[in-house]
Amino acid sequence: MTYSIASLVAGALTGHRRWKPAWRKPEPKPSYDVVVVGGGGHGLATAYHLAATFGIRNVAVVEKGWIGSGNAGRNTTIIRSNYLLPGNVSFYELSMKLWERQEADLNFNTMVSQRGVLNLYHSDSQRDAYARRGNSMRLNGIDAELLTREEVMARHPYLDYDNARFPIRGGLLQRRGGTARHDGVVWGYARAADRLGVDIIENAEVTGFLREGGRIVGVETSRGAIRAGKVGMAVAGNTSRVASLAGLRLPIESHVLQAFVSEGLKPTVDGVITFGAGHFYVSQSDKGGLVFGGDIDGYNSYAQRGNLPVIRDVCEGGIAVMPMIGRARILRHWGGIMDMSMDGSPIIDRTPIDGLYLNAGWCYGGFKATPASGMTFAHLLARDAPHPTATLLTLDRFRSGAVVDEKGMGAQPNLH
Ligand SMILES: Cc1cc2nc3c(=O)[nH]c(=O)nc-3n(C[C@H](O)[C@H](O)[C@H](O)COP(=O)(O)OP(=O)(O)OC[C@H]3O[C@@H](n4cnc5c(N)ncnc54)[C@H](O)[C@@H]3O)c2cc1C
Repeated sequence: MTYSIASLVAGALTGHRRWKPAWRKPEPKPSYDVVVVGGGGHGLATAYHLAATFGIRNVAVVEKGWIGSGNAGRNTTIIRSNYLLPGNVSFYELSMKLWERQEADLNFNTMVSQRGVLNLYHSDSQRDAYARRGNSMRLNGIDAELLTREEVMARHPYLDYDNARFPIRGGLLQRRGGTARHDGVVWGYARAADRLGVDIIENAEVTGFLREGGRIVGVETSRGAIRAGKVGMAVAGNTSRVASLAGLRLPIESHVLQAFVSEGLKPTVDGVITFGAGHFYVSQSDKGGLVFGGDIDGYNSYAQRGNLPVIRDVCEGGIAVMPMIGRARILRHWGGIMDMSMDGSPIIDRTPIDGLYLNAGWCYGGFKATPASGMTFAHLLARDAPHPTATLLTLDRFRSGAVVDEKGMGAQPNLH
């Protein structure tokens, strides 16, 4: 069924009894051309592009829980392409372009809202760094504007401009950045992939890999063995665990990232704002809640919950830049597991094992990458060659030293 005004009106006239489930619940087949492990945004987008862009429809997505139960359904929904370095700039801009046509492509309301992403700066040196980033963006055809303090004040009068330690001097604005509804993105890709014949198999945990000779030829799951011509891993925070089932040790650490949402408030925060002097960012959901977050927890963990020092750090950042947030009550707070790579940039590459392909290292920025990640990983799986925008996102860069170190933090995942 195609979603449209006509189908909505028809549904209303028939008591909404004719709607069909948005995707099937198939039993796994014995074999597929491609099995994608992980039913988050990236796994589902990959399956969608395999079918829609590359015509490979004999595909299964194997998910250990329910689709979107990982980071795809836990993130703070920010999308942007305000990157500096080759390797990231064109990749994230491809993603932004795909966001801009996503609802039409998927025939699904993913609530893409280009409300703007504003990075505040608080010192002269930070302004210079943001000017450089903005110039790099513009040279690559991406929108970027360096705003003065007064221009920021006109957009967001409620921020603390005269904070003695962190006075706001201005900001770098990407107007095309914004938010999208995270679970809507999962459902949209799932439905569109399913309509093209992709099997989405939930409650099937991958527990091992099938091998013949040196090659991976399928997966063992809690619902039985499934053979595959190729296996793509897109398991985000569980990357190290799943890779270890194939005997791979990767340059990835898992850390928790927490997020928060306040009670519903009247429309206040018109866009996404990031604090430049600490790790705090905020936007307002369409329901009115202030959605905010900060840094990852400093130690490795696979638990989807965080601890108090980071909560305190996020609150300190929030109060420093936006004192009124202290009056809002927290409604919910949660955590997800981040696959932190050593340079803060992702990996979309073949592994050293034939038949096994890797999509990982998304750190806390993988939601915005979902469309491009799906497109480029599908390209790699279909053609056995990297997509032109993902040629630098290799696994080998950690051996050769050609890292894509956007933040210049070195091999320090807890700082990326
Ligand atoms: C609190 C928080 C805030 C964030 N905010 C943002 C943001 O504002 N903007 C942004 O761009 N990014 C953000 N991110 C990061 C972003 O959510 C992730 O980088 C991205 O979702 C990762 O890709 P994914 O959607 O495929 O991951 P996931 O949804 O985690 O998908 C991986 C899937 O693999 C499944 N899986 C794991 N092991 C197995 C197995 N053995 N067998 C089968 N399936 C398995 C998991 O159950 C999971 O569903 C945030 C993350 C968190 C937690």
